[in-house]
Amino acid sequence: MSNSEVPAIFEAAFAHEGVIVKVDILQRRNDNHWRLIEVKSTADLKEHHLEDVAIQSYVLSRSGVTLASVWLAHVNRAYVLAGETVDPRQFFLFRNLTRRVQQLQPALTFQLRSQFRVLAMPKAPDLPTGPHCTNPVTCEFFDHCNPPLPNDHVGYLPRLHASAMEQLEEMGVESIRDIPDDFELSEFQRRVCDAMQTGQPWFSADLKGEFESLNAVTDRKPAFPTSGSRTEIFLPEPVYRKTNSFNSKGNALHRSIIFCASG
Ligand code: SF4
Repeated sequence: MSNSEVPAIFEAAFAHEGVIVKVDILQRRNDNHWRLIEVKSTADLKEHHLEDVAIQSYVLSRSGVTLASVWLAHVNRAYVLAGETVDPRQFFLFRNLTRRVQQLQPALTFQLRSQFRVLAMPKAPDLPTGPHCTNPVTCEFFDHCNPPLPNDHVGYLPRLHASAMEQLEEMGVESIRDIPDDFELSEFQRRVCDAMQTGQPWFSADLKGEFESLNAVTDRKPAFPTSGSRTEIFLPEPVYRKTNSFNSKGNALHRSIIFCASG
């Protein structure tokens, strides 16, 4: 940081009184000030992103780093790949979170105090696992608190609501294979369930057309999935010319084009 010729530092790590953070990008500004940029692969600002940058700002400002501003860079859902390579200035949208992060500082100090109180306890509090273990992000102690489940466990049904999970538990149903036909599931969940119960993969009727349209705009032809295993294409950045990362409904493209499940 003392070398003024260094314009930016990626993944710089800082620690203050037991709190450690890593900053995606620190960009040098005038007068030894720095711009903090957190990079996310989502298309919008989420509430927990604010907390994420707020804690980074908290630690940096107490480690002798003077922040000029705090920003979030996330994916621009409207970006369409025009040439061969992604233009990062167009691909990302930048949000200035400086003021909102400053407003969070008092609450953050309070929250840190209470978290350190928990850490100082002789043993972990006896709390049940639940949606808070994965929302907004998967807890790093997830494997410790959630022993591995069988591959066909109902917990693997995508986006299964906690109340549906409870209902299945009360019915004594642990395997997706045992979910009754009349149990209320979303269309998507029912597809997964049917594929697992029948052993037959499911292919969208639109899938072939989607691939053909992609083939029409690119020389890089994706392989049509032929196996029965679950297959997904994750496109946080567009790889095909004239496409972007999200479909017209704002969903990540990979969700809209492919689903198949193993039997
Ligand atoms: S996985 Fe994390 S959030 Fe869930 S109970 Fe364990 S420590 Fe708490």
